[in-house]
Amino acid sequence: MQDTFKHQGLRRKLIEEIRQKGIVDENVLSAIGKIPRHLFMDNAFVNFAYVDKAFPIGSGQTISQPFTVAKQTELLSIKPYEKVLEIGTGSGYQAAVLIVMEANVYTIERQQDLYKKTKDFLPTIGCKCHFFYGDGYKGLPKFAPFHKIIITCGAPEIPEELLEQLKVGGKMVAPIGGGNIQQMQLIEKISDTEHKVTTHGSFSFVPMLKDKDDSG
Ligand code: SAH
Repeated sequence: MQDTFKHQGLRRKLIEEIRQKGIVDENVLSAIGKIPRHLFMDNAFVNFAYVDKAFPIGSGQTISQPFTVAKQTELLSIKPYEKVLEIGTGSGYQAAVLIVMEANVYTIERQQDLYKKTKDFLPTIGCKCHFFYGDGYKGLPKFAPFHKIIITCGAPEIPEELLEQLKVGGKMVAPIGGGNIQQMQLIEKISDTEHKVTTHGSFSFVPMLKDKDDSG
C-alpha cells in the first residue's frame, strides 16, 4: 500500500485535531505528519488510521491513540541524537515518531510475533532502530544510561530498574496505575537518588506484564 495525497490530507486533519486537544510542540506535530500510520495497522482497520483512536494490532495489543503518542513524546522534549529506551514496541508507531525526531531508539517488546513483525516492517519505511525481544521491566542495562525512557503500557508503579538506567537530568514518561486507567507521569531524574514526578492526565493502556507466560 502506498502513501497517497488522500492519506496526507487525512494526516493534516489529524494534526489539527491533536493540536486542538493541546499538543503545542511543532516538532512532534510535524513528525506525526510524516508517518504513514495506515501502514502500521491491520487491514481491517486501515480506513480508520487517521481517526484519533487506539486500534487492535493483533496478539491482544493496540496501536496507541495519536494524541497519546504526541503527548508522551511532547513530555519527553526529544532532541536529535538522544538515546531513547521504549518499553512496548507494539506496532512501532511510537518508535517511528521518535526516529523521525532523530532520536537513537532502543525498543523492547515481550511478544515475539509483534517483535518480529515490527523489526521487519520499520526498516521498509526507512526507520532505523535497535529492536529487542524481552521483558521491559529489566530495561537494557548493557546500553544504559538513556537520556529518555518511554513506557507505552500501563505499569502499576514506576519500575525501579528503569529509573536506574536513566541519566541524571534525563526524563521518563510512563502511564502509572494498575487498573484500566493510568495517570501519565513525567519523572525527571535530579540526581542518582532523587527524582521529581509530575502528573499529566488520565489515559488507558494495555497492561505492562512481567514475564512471558501470562500474555496469551
Ligand atoms: N508503542 C506501541 C504501543 C503498543 S501497546 C505502538 O506505538 O504501537 C503496548 C505494548 O507493550 C504491547 O505490544 C505489549 O505486548 C507490550 N508490553 C507489555 N508488557 C511489556 C513488558 N514487560 N516488556 C516489553 N513490552 C511489553
